[in-house]
Parts: sequence; structure tokens; C-alpha cells
Amino acid sequence: MLKVALITTGCRTNQADSSAIRAALKEMPVQFVAQGTQADVVVVNACTLTADADRTAKKAINLAARQGAKPILAGCLATRLVNSNEATLDDVLIVPGTADRNQLISLLKKLALGQQPQDVEKTKPLELRTRPNIKVQDGCNHSCAYCIVPSVRGPAKSVAVDQVKAAVLEAAGLGAAEVVLTGIDLASWGQDFGGKTVFDLLDALLGLNTGMRFRISSIEPHGLDEGLFQRLAGHKDMCPFLHVPAQSGSQRILDLMNRDGNVEKLEQMLRLAKQQIPGLSLGLDLICGFPGESEDDFEQTVAFV
Ligand code: SF4
Repeated sequence: MLKVALITTGCRTNQADSSAIRAALKEMPVQFVAQGTQADVVVVNACTLTADADRTAKKAINLAARQGAKPILAGCLATRLVNSNEATLDDVLIVPGTADRNQLISLLKKLALGQQPQDVEKTKPLELRTRPNIKVQDGCNHSCAYCIVPSVRGPAKSVAVDQVKAAVLEAAGLGAAEVVLTGIDLASWGQDFGGKTVFDLLDALLGLNTGMRFRISSIEPHGLDEGLFQRLAGHKDMCPFLHVPAQSGSQRILDLMNRDGNVEKLEQMLRLAKQQIPGLSLGLDLICGFPGESEDDFEQTVAFV
């Protein structure tokens, strides 16, 4: 039995990738162990959004190597290192690929079978989580000045409705109370399916009548729409929750960031959401200290909040 510690850093999309890796290996002689436990292989499915994220991942890799495990670096950081020909880490297997996880899965299968080729035991089924992340979208067609995600995850790509439905039904079968629909730019879901929208996906999932609640992990400002508010307000299975990466309350800074957004329009939409969705929980991402941000820009963000 190959003991694998799968460490995930970063966003919910990355967490969903790790869950999918676990699920893909459930019939293999692989035992997933907690971080810090003695493992044969330590996979770090790593974010590379910030220098801090890179440091955390490299620290986990170094620790794994010191403890005698085989370190494997995967996820966005692995993709960035390979794409940029940056110095690699000694004795670390680097497996790029975020949209396509098959390379990592087949490597782990090989390692698992190489260790105990004739004694394939069943591992536990997909772990029960009361609130699993289900990835419905990956990649991004935007080009925000500070963001490396499009270059490591590629263009926006939606997961087909049937595939999402199957994942939702599996989560329901395992007793989940709620699922979190994740993606890099969820609002772009369906653009690659002949103009379908994320509402088509939500309606299909709500139509399953699983009794579970659906939470949208995060939605870009361009996805704020009355159609979305109606669904959040009008269906008992939708969490009245919005997390919006607003990033700044200064239009000048949004423009410098190369964001599509318009502060005035965003403020209008957030007010409308508050009016239309009873009990709304609203979260924002904001970047402070963006290069070129003045005191006045910062005060505009404070006023916006
Ligand atoms: S929309 Fe989000 S993921 Fe896409 S480039 Fe901008 S910050 Fe990055």
C-alpha cells in the first residue's frame, strides 16, 4: 500500500482538483495519510498566486524530502516552473497540468502498482465531506495585471452539465449537506457550450432535488446579474452567499489592474443584491497596496467597503 500525503494549497478549485485525484485513485493500493504522517510520497498540489504561496509549497517539499518521502510538486506552481524553465527543485518530481490531472494520476498509479504489484487492496471510497468542493469550471479568459492564473490554467473551460450532475449525486449519496461549486471564473461557465450560462447549470442542479444546498464559491463582478440574485433568493437549496473579487474601489486602480470592472456598476449591483436576497452574506476580495495606489485610491476603496 502506497502511503500518499496530498497537501493542497490555494483556492477551492485546487482543493477540488485534489478531491478528484483522491477519487481517481480510490480503487488503487493507495492510502492517503495526513500531512506530517510518515508517507512514501508527498504530493504538494501547489498554488503560485503569491511569493508566499510558493514559499509554503517549497517548504512542504523540502520537509517531505528530509523525512525520506518522494516529493512530487503539482498544480499551478509546477506548471509555472515548467513553462518558465525556472530552476527546478533538486530530486523533486515536477508534474505540471491543472486542467488535465491525468499525468499526476497515472504517475501515482505507477508508483502504487510498482510497490505492491500483486496485492491490490481496495482503499476507502471517496472521503465523506459535509461540504465538498465540486469544480465546474477552470481557466480564465481575462488578463488582470497581477494574476498568473490564466498562464498556468489556460483559457476558460466549463465542465459538462452531466459530469457536474454526476459529481453532485455522488456527494449526495455520500451524505454531504452542501456542495460548493468552484471555478476560476464561474461566471464564464457555458460560454464554450454555445452560449449557455451558469444559470443553466444552476437550474439543472437544483432540478436534481437532492436536498443539499449549493454554494457559489466566488463570482467575478461580470457575473452579478438579477438572474443570479433571483436564484439565490428564490430557492431554498441555494445559499444566500456571494463572494466577489472586487479588488479595488478606485476606478483608476481597476484600470491599472486591467480589470474589466466598473466601480459604480459594481456598487449598484451589490446594493441590488442586498435588496433582493434576504439574509445575504457578502464577502469581497480587495487588494491593498497595488503598485501606484495612492492614499486617495485607498480611501476610495475604504468608502466603497
Ligand atoms: S479574472 Fe481572476 S483568474 Fe482571471 S486573470 Fe483576473 S484575477 Fe486572474
